[in-house]
Amino acid sequence: MLLRGERMTDWEDIERYRRLIGELELPRQDFALFGLRCPYCGKSDRINRLERPEELEDCPEEYRRLWGKFDRAGELVLCRFCAALLVWDKDRQAATPLEQFDL
Ligand SMILES: [Zn+2]
Repeated sequence: MLLRGERMTDWEDIERYRRLIGELELPRQDFALFGLRCPYCGKSDRINRLERPEELEDCPEEYRRLWGKFDRAGELVLCRFCAALLVWDKDRQAATPLEQFDL
């Protein structure tokens, strides 16, 4: 068993998710969440909703798992300008980078 003493950013995981989303050609709809600011590039008209697993006909298990991890925190969204994967907290109207969560 691997011991992980501290919270760590797993960039490899994030890269894999980013690739997966690219392979699935998500987001399929152009649906920008205006007013939601990207913590990386600062743009507030480029964050797009990503389709939920149940919206995809052939949803890979990995994508389903990815959503499962963040279900409580919010919805997965993508900044189309800088390609950052973010979690959108609707109540707070804020987007948090994926790597700030325990993956
Ligand atoms: Zn951005």
